[in-house]
Amino acid sequence: MELNEIQLKVINDSIRDIPDFPKPGIMFKDITTLLNNKEAYSTLMTHLHDRYKGYELDYIAGIDARGFIFGAALAQMLNVGFVPIRKKGKLPFETIGEEYSLEYGTDEVEIHIDAFHNKKGARVLMIDDLIATGGTAIAAAKLINKLEAECVESCFILGLDFLDGKANLEKITPVYRILGIN
Ligand code: AMP
Repeated sequence: MELNEIQLKVINDSIRDIPDFPKPGIMFKDITTLLNNKEAYSTLMTHLHDRYKGYELDYIAGIDARGFIFGAALAQMLNVGFVPIRKKGKLPFETIGEEYSLEYGTDEVEIHIDAFHNKKGARVLMIDDLIATGGTAIAAAKLINKLEAECVESCFILGLDFLDGKANLEKITPVYRILGIN
């Protein structure tokens, strides 16, 4: 079921804007004020559970670090496994990695090679709090595909619609984002 206008407003109003963080010119969307708002958090998680309960998922893959919060909670609600996709150097077992470009330089995300138990075609939902340029999410979706799993959808609470991230990610996987920012 779609979120109605009141529910969308509850979620939207719970997210705090922090100007010039972590550097000048960035409007940081702070979701800690969504998490400590029980009405907003519950509205969001109930909606995600409702949307994805029919998807026959095998795993949820959350992107470092805020994707862990929503992803792990949703995985438990859906009775599926949770897989972290982490910034380089954080995962202790054998990994594969994927680099992506930043404004200056590159970054890399990694996944454990056995994250999906070597199950070919495992149905995976990828989740993060926000999609901006899409660099992180595209790299993360490539990792899921490299392990021969299927990224059936990628889910974000927020999308910065003035950037091309969503359109670029949609070339690899369907994208669902709850709130768009223009
Ligand atoms: P990108 O790879 O450019 O799509 O950036 C997405 C990642 O950076 C996500 O993990 C977000 O949590 C974080 N991020 C980027 N821009 C913002 C922003 N304006 N506010 C909060 N988080 C952001």
